[in-house]
Amino acid sequence: MKRYDYLIVGAGLFGAVFAHEAQKAGKRCLVIDRRPHLGGNIYCEQVEGINVHRYGAHIFHTANKRVWEYVNSIVEFNRYTNCPVACYKGEMYNLPFNMNTFNRMWGVRTPAEAVAKIEEQKAEANARMEADGVNEPRNLEEQALMLVGKDIYERLIKGYTEKQWGRDCRDLPASIIRRLPVRLVFDNNYFNDPYQGIPIGGYNRLIEGLLDGVETRIGVDFAELKGNWRDKADKLVYTGPIDEYFDYCYGNLQYRTVRFETEVFDMPNYQGNAVINYTERDIPYTRVIEHKHFEMFGSEVYSTPKTVVSREYSTEWKPGMEPYYPVNDDRNSALYQQYRLLAEQEPNVIFGGRLAEYKYYDMDKVIEQALLTAKEEQL
Ligand SMILES: Cc1cc2nc3c(=O)[nH]c(=O)nc-3n(C[C@H](O)[C@H](O)[C@H](O)COP(=O)(O)OP(=O)(O)OC[C@H]3O[C@@H](n4cnc5c(N)ncnc54)[C@H](O)[C@@H]3O)c2cc1C
Repeated sequence: MKRYDYLIVGAGLFGAVFAHEAQKAGKRCLVIDRRPHLGGNIYCEQVEGINVHRYGAHIFHTANKRVWEYVNSIVEFNRYTNCPVACYKGEMYNLPFNMNTFNRMWGVRTPAEAVAKIEEQKAEANARMEADGVNEPRNLEEQALMLVGKDIYERLIKGYTEKQWGRDCRDLPASIIRRLPVRLVFDNNYFNDPYQGIPIGGYNRLIEGLLDGVETRIGVDFAELKGNWRDKADKLVYTGPIDEYFDYCYGNLQYRTVRFETEVFDMPNYQGNAVINYTERDIPYTRVIEHKHFEMFGSEVYSTPKTVVSREYSTEWKPGMEPYYPVNDDRNSALYQQYRLLAEQEPNVIFGGRLAEYKYYDMDKVIEQALLTAKEEQL
């Protein structure tokens, strides 16, 4: 007798949503994770009474009403609205680029004045390219200058992008930036989605709710069971790295990663906002996150005497580091396709989630995908 219908490797959002659906359908599931906690990358650590996003700031946003209702049926979400601010040489600019940004940058007060300024700067960039005999932007710098002009590019895009990619904008392909939307309204809400927020009490409550009643084991690596998982379960749901599953037989898939430097400050309010981007090249980090602002608003910010702040450093990934962002270049896409073909031949194994599909997924999209997988399993 097999003990489980599903062995689920990985207690991140994909594994937890799938397990939730399987359990509702009366299936027996075991969820394992090699980390010492559940939740995968949305896991939060409590520090000084504050939920600290251990694997990077996570802001839930979606246009999918069904996904929004699904997560809110597990735990209620607050209305955190993401309004990041950019700091360039001590000057603070609202993001995304909007009338507040343009007013700060040029003193303009109306959409017409802002458009005139942007068009003037775009025309200068185009004229410079024409003088150089260039028809198409040859790199990211030329592309950005054509789309928004010099001031926005130099103050808000150049340094940040160079830190993110670890390369000069003139050495990056124009294709990285296809559009740079500008908003001609005084609206600092970063996301266009109608629904956004943070689970009240933190993301761990979402995962605990999803996995309520499901058997889980942490600190267990699939490698320990790999040879004999079929003795324990009918099917495997694998959300770990696909190249690792196949013992890297074709080589390593590559990632970009982020290093976090987290510090507790003996003050209730360090920067007055959850997210501040540092857009000048000379400051080595890209963003500073002050975690309490995701869940404490107005005078609540002063309800804890300390605050926790993380500086983010964009870093080249090496095997052994946390894999964060897949690298969508030709080498890695071709390598993933080779692994994908092997995966299609594995009987009774479902590969899902960001690592097994080698794909950047926002949280709502990974939930959608896990729900779809559950449906395909007729759960
Ligand atoms: C820095 C960063 C910031 C992000 N911010 C946002 C955001 O603001 N908004 C948003 O919507 N999305 C955001 N995301 C995306 C979000 O993190 C993902 O959508 C989500 O975490 C994916 O869930 P998952 O289950 O696929 O993967 P994971 O959460 O990575 O879960 C996979 C789990 O599998 C476990 N595992 C792997 N291999 C094994 C093994 N061999 N044995 C046992 N266990 C194993 C891992 O330990 C891990 O816990 C962000 C991502 C990153 C990298």
